[in-house]
Amino acid sequence: MAGRLRALSAVRIACQALAILVAGLAAQPAVAQQFSGLARLDAAASEVRDIRAGLEVELYLSQVVPWRVFLLDDPRRLVLDFREVDWRGADPEMIAGTRATGLRTGALRPGWSRMILDLAEPMRVDEAGMRVSETDGTARLLVRLTRTDAESYAAAAGAPHDPDWDFLMAADPGQGAAPAPEDDLVVVIDPGHGGIDPGAQHGGVTEADLMLALGYELANAVERMPGVTPYLTREADIFVPLQERLTLARAVGADLFISLHADALEGLQATGASVYTLAEEAIDEATQRIAERHDRGDIVAGLDLSGQDDEVAKILMDLARLETGPAGDRFAEALVVALDESGAPLTSRPRRSELLAVLTSADFPAVLLEVGFLSHDGDRARLSSREGRRPIVEGVVLAIDRWAIEEAALAPLRRQ
Ligand SMILES: [Zn+2]
Repeated sequence: MAGRLRALSAVRIACQALAILVAGLAAQPAVAQQFSGLARLDAAASEVRDIRAGLEVELYLSQVVPWRVFLLDDPRRLVLDFREVDWRGADPEMIAGTRATGLRTGALRPGWSRMILDLAEPMRVDEAGMRVSETDGTARLLVRLTRTDAESYAAAAGAPHDPDWDFLMAADPGQGAAPAPEDDLVVVIDPGHGGIDPGAQHGGVTEADLMLALGYELANAVERMPGVTPYLTREADIFVPLQERLTLARAVGADLFISLHADALEGLQATGASVYTLAEEAIDEATQRIAERHDRGDIVAGLDLSGQDDEVAKILMDLARLETGPAGDRFAEALVVALDESGAPLTSRPRRSELLAVLTSADFPAVLLEVGFLSHDGDRARLSSREGRRPIVEGVVLAIDRWAIEEAALAPLRRQ
């Protein structure tokens, strides 16, 4: 199915963006800052050390990325694969005096990185896990190896067969990440959660899985709309940080961002869908928060704010919001009406606003659609079937269609 969708994958988007960035790095340093989704190795905090029974590898990364670990033989080496990591600072000094005799890092292919540690003796992977810091979103990967015999090592060595991983890796930027046609409306569909973050769970149903299924169905439907190109922020069960979702959307020139979620409320029989936009009273706080972040080149597409102070950044973001805020509100209104018309049940107060991270983009309108409550038996049963999700897909498509016409009619007025 993925093959039929044009330019659809977050992975492909990331790969493509990276390929462009790497190619354009020397000429346009400002462009590189735009991609804040790149994980960086914190070399100072990271460590490779001998333990009594073997070796421990502790790596700190600026954010969570998909990763895997395996052993290879002849020569014996530990392989760590990651989504693109900036390895600057990784130094052979890191392994001095340990049972690792060599350290190499680099790009595996566009968008993917590898670290290789040569091993002085046969060892087995006893423990491997990545933890995310609740406070700053940084990730710590710990791999613990224990000495073993040559025969066991040889039996355990080899690149693993992992269909999910192959799927991720196969999403090569060279294959099918065609940019949207120039005048197309770019709709970025954001299936909430994924990977280590399953979202709401109830009665054996997981929000992350459900939103991925819905995301695919919606992308397929949107793709059939003339003049509209859909992108997905993820097309597998992988974790994508919230800010990276916006960065990915920006990289493909999003005209509209739709985040898909489902709710769960214990003990309450809430039911139906709601549409969220950024709360008016939260806009100042959101703007301030973003302005304080380091990666200002990433705040508003086409504007490099990295040399600006907070006040300038805030003014430029407020200006951008003058257009995108009302446009997002108009889409949210259209969506509520269209969902109702398509037969998707709504909550008693379906139009809501709140300070949500995925709604904080200043340069494109964003809405968050809560499709229903997994804690409600009826909602859960309905949302678990393709047929039950159909009214939601139809409602979103109808809303995009009406909204696009309305925005096109408003555009000439704005330029006056
Ligand atoms: Zn959610």
